[in-house]
Amino acid sequence: MGRGAIKMQLQDRVALVTGGGRGIGASTAAILAAHGAAVAVTDLDLEPAEETAEAIRSAGGRAIALACDVANKDSVDAVFERTAKEFSRIDILYASAGITRDNLVHKLSEEDWDAVIATHLKGSFLSVQAAQRHMVAQRYGKIVLTSSTSALGNRGQANYATVKAGIQGLTKTLAIELGPFGINVNAVAPGFIETRMTRATAERMGVDFEQMKAAAAQGIPLRRVGQPQDVGHVVAFLCSDEASFVSGQVIYVAGGPKA
Ligand code: NDP
Repeated sequence: MGRGAIKMQLQDRVALVTGGGRGIGASTAAILAAHGAAVAVTDLDLEPAEETAEAIRSAGGRAIALACDVANKDSVDAVFERTAKEFSRIDILYASAGITRDNLVHKLSEEDWDAVIATHLKGSFLSVQAAQRHMVAQRYGKIVLTSSTSALGNRGQANYATVKAGIQGLTKTLAIELGPFGINVNAVAPGFIETRMTRATAERMGVDFEQMKAAAAQGIPLRRVGQPQDVGHVVAFLCSDEASFVSGQVIYVAGGPKA
């Protein structure tokens, strides 16, 4: 969790993380577990989800792994039901599942537009809809969605920027609708975070990843790119009762005010 880290009181809490097999989702799942939450780690494929869950269990935490395609309603509903059965409740949703299908607009295929919309926008909607069923009944819940600095506009990411801006609108609307039921809804908006996603972008562009990171760092006020745990710690705070009067906010985790 890091030296001198504040311990959030998540001992009796149950979290479900989408896209928890890799990158920011995997790190956040581990951080929530280190703060005491039982975690259902879900991902498109079971194998990476199981790796994250196994790492949590090896560190003394509680975790199960489940396969879930966030763009598929039956799949989403099933993992929420299974998690509630396993751990009796669902207090926290962190929605991290995501893909990129970058291209300039004149080359962007309909398939790549639809895939990004389905994974991020429909995926966030379906996850939230399933989560709130449990949270409204409990009159308690913490939902954190994942936006991005790309929401402010990014060349070659018309599809991705659109969904990340949409997630901000979704976050604010959900905060209004679900607030009366004791549910906080916020979003994190990461900047450049070192994960498989950004590594794949470098590969696609034919750029050396280390050089890409160094170039990105030059444009970031704190002069470094982010690590998955930079996001995970903010998510844990937003899921804690210490942040119980924070809702409808988008917290940029980008080493500066914007990308
Ligand atoms: P990763 O690719 O490392 O992790 C994303 C995970 O989501 C993967 O395990 C991926 O599975 C999974 N996933 C993809 N599609 C689905 C689906 N339909 N259902 C369930 N899971 C799915 O990416 P990051 O950790 O970097 O990204 C996590 C989130 O953070 C994303 O929403 C991303 O847009 C956002 N973000 C990332 C930034 C960055 O710089 N890295 C910056 C800003 C935002 P598989 O590998 O099989 O595709």
